[in-house]
Amino acid sequence: MARKFFVGGNWKCNGTVSEVNKIVNVLNGADVPPTDVVEVVISPPFVFLPQVKAALRSDFAVAAQNAWVKKGGAYTGEISAEMLVNLEIPWVILGHSERRSLLKESNEFVADKVAYALGQGLKVIACIGETLEQREAGETMTVVAEQTKAIAEKVKDWSNVVLAYEPVWAIGTGKVASPAQAQEVHVDLRSWLATNVSSEIAESVRIIYGGSVSGANCVELAGQPDVDGFLVGGASLKPEFVDIIKAAS
Ligand code: PEP
Repeated sequence: MARKFFVGGNWKCNGTVSEVNKIVNVLNGADVPPTDVVEVVISPPFVFLPQVKAALRSDFAVAAQNAWVKKGGAYTGEISAEMLVNLEIPWVILGHSERRSLLKESNEFVADKVAYALGQGLKVIACIGETLEQREAGETMTVVAEQTKAIAEKVKDWSNVVLAYEPVWAIGTGKVASPAQAQEVHVDLRSWLATNVSSEIAESVRIIYGGSVSGANCVELAGQPDVDGFLVGGASLKPEFVDIIKAAS
């Protein structure tokens, strides 16, 4: 079965009420390929989720940028998967490198979050990726395999998982991976999944690329056979995000 192109917009910790309205207006007015060609998911900060969900066109979905690792309760400052489900937020981004590095989220913690969120009925964009130091040491595949293995040990049903390969050195730096670099890791990840999970999952799971994707580089990246879409940070706050969605066709 063909893997449907997926474009996620990660707004990170950005925006005001009026800026959010402006971006949503641009998205709502955009002429993009139909939903059988591309799946678009917008991820604003938690506080803007209801606003974006209410105003956004119905063919785009929304995602939270994080969720707590278990049932809510005495966890000040956290947002539970149950709350997201209650607000009818279908997707959540987990394991973003900014949380792994700044908030010290380990592979196991991220995997527990992925498993819990899936168990509550959320769909998950699970992020993995190596640092520049790890790439230069030739450890890229070891690192992303370890991150994926932690998830695979806790997740049996991958149908609601999108795997986002986001090399840390490419995130927010303007240094995008070359199409060949992205394709190489995606192929290796698919073969890791085939060996360690199943050939069906390896074939069906969408592996998207993230890291300085822009209107200028998206078409060539999208042309790689194993690049099934993008997770876009900085450019998702700009009108060029529409061009990135159009790279699906
Ligand atoms: C991201 O935050 O997931 C990301 C890929 O950021 P950027 O596109 O800005 O590199």
